[in-house]
Amino acid sequence: MVDKFDPADIVVLNSCTVKNPSQEAFATLLRRAQAQKKTVVAAGCVPQAEPTLADVKDCSVVGVTNISRICEVVGESLKGHIVKLLEHKELPQLCLPKIRKNKHVEIVPMSTGCLGQCTFCKTRQARGTLMSYDIATIVQRVKQAVEEGVTEIWLTSEDSGTYGRDIGHTLPELCWEVLGVLRPHNVIKIGMTNPPFILEHMEEMAAILRHPQVYSHMHIPVQSGSNAVLDSMAREYTVEDFVLLCDYLAENVAGVTFATDIICGFPTETEEDFDKTLDLVKKYKFPSLFISQFYPRPGTVAADMKKLDTKVVKSRSTELTKLFESYRTYDSLLGTEQRVWVTDIETNKKNAEAGGKGETALVGHTKFYVKVIIREVDPGLLGRCVKVKITEVQKWHVVGVVTDRNVSSEVVQPVSHYKREFQKTKVNFRARERLHKLKAELAAKCPVGKRKRSAVSERPRGHAISNIPWMEIAYVAGTVLVLLGILMVFLGK
Ligand code: SF4
Repeated sequence: MVDKFDPADIVVLNSCTVKNPSQEAFATLLRRAQAQKKTVVAAGCVPQAEPTLADVKDCSVVGVTNISRICEVVGESLKGHIVKLLEHKELPQLCLPKIRKNKHVEIVPMSTGCLGQCTFCKTRQARGTLMSYDIATIVQRVKQAVEEGVTEIWLTSEDSGTYGRDIGHTLPELCWEVLGVLRPHNVIKIGMTNPPFILEHMEEMAAILRHPQVYSHMHIPVQSGSNAVLDSMAREYTVEDFVLLCDYLAENVAGVTFATDIICGFPTETEEDFDKTLDLVKKYKFPSLFISQFYPRPGTVAADMKKLDTKVVKSRSTELTKLFESYRTYDSLLGTEQRVWVTDIETNKKNAEAGGKGETALVGHTKFYVKVIIREVDPGLLGRCVKVKITEVQKWHVVGVVTDRNVSSEVVQPVSHYKREFQKTKVNFRARERLHKLKAELAAKCPVGKRKRSAVSERPRGHAISNIPWMEIAYVAGTVLVLLGILMVFLGK
């Protein structure tokens, strides 16, 4: 297997349909391969969502659930046959042989497809509805990766919060099981999740994110700060849901960080809607923010909506980018010591392009998934969990020096310990949640500031005593007294 075009006998191109640029990159590579008269196998979401696409007409095609038959398709294509495998099947095997791009990182898909119907999304057409792998299969894959020396496990999905709903399991259940097979230096990164389904597991997810072997980081794409826009995107949550989730996690997972995605210039987005998005970003100061301009994806509901002027879309995206660049989020890390999982080595491309040496450095992440550059390039540190003192902070990353080369053996309790801890917070949170609910119910019935007045005015004054005939009693008593008086006067004579 080679990773360059020229020496290849056949080119296998995987594809992503989530945004126009990713689809265009696939089309460019495909044309380049065809111009070089290479046999091409096109795989992934682009041909799956649009099998009639002119670009893939003369290629073999492997759909998203047929990946386990890739060897067969390559063999047939090399013989000059065109094979098209696009029907949606059962989930492909998870334990297929693989070559990792980074040998320290294992990417484990938990599921394919989703339960959404977002009006801008093309991925849904390619991937279909949610199909989750069972827990035992995922755990087996993780175990194998750990045995092969992997450090970091990424549990990925189109929408992690939905994991298992089709097979009667949940994301927290899966996470606990995976944690049970890790070695002390391993760490889990939980993939992107939309708000609606993860909300149900908010408390348990907080406990999982607190676990010493899970990055305290969540990627929750909000897409817009306006409920009206979310509604026309058919995102099935409100800004308040997103806020509840982030605030709860921030309150219960010390130092947790959030990444989010925003689409600028969705067809129904007004200036006021966009201002709400700006306000949300100002409030949370996301350390990672993925900003896209709205591009209509063919075949989606949003593609039929009246587009905003391109200038408006661009200026909103520029304004949001400026806002994002105006704040810093890592300054408080300066001088602190952090646990860092070292998983990569990178060369400073900008420096190399500018004629410099293109210095190399080790790359790792803190517990809160902050990128750390370690300039001391000791390959022996790769794949380890070390302690690093932060000496420099930037917008996108921090720089540090290693102070302890081996903190992997830090005591991690058995999974049951963290589950017990979770049970305690769960009780606390339930109580608080009930209290909040009660307050909200009361406030709705009787808004603050009106309660006192109405409490007085609506009180059925005298209700408890109104059945007692005080007037009659007084009248009778008075009459008796008068009669007694007359009698005494009479007797006195
Ligand atoms: S949740 Fe929405 S955006 Fe994500 S894959 Fe499903 S339909 Fe697309």
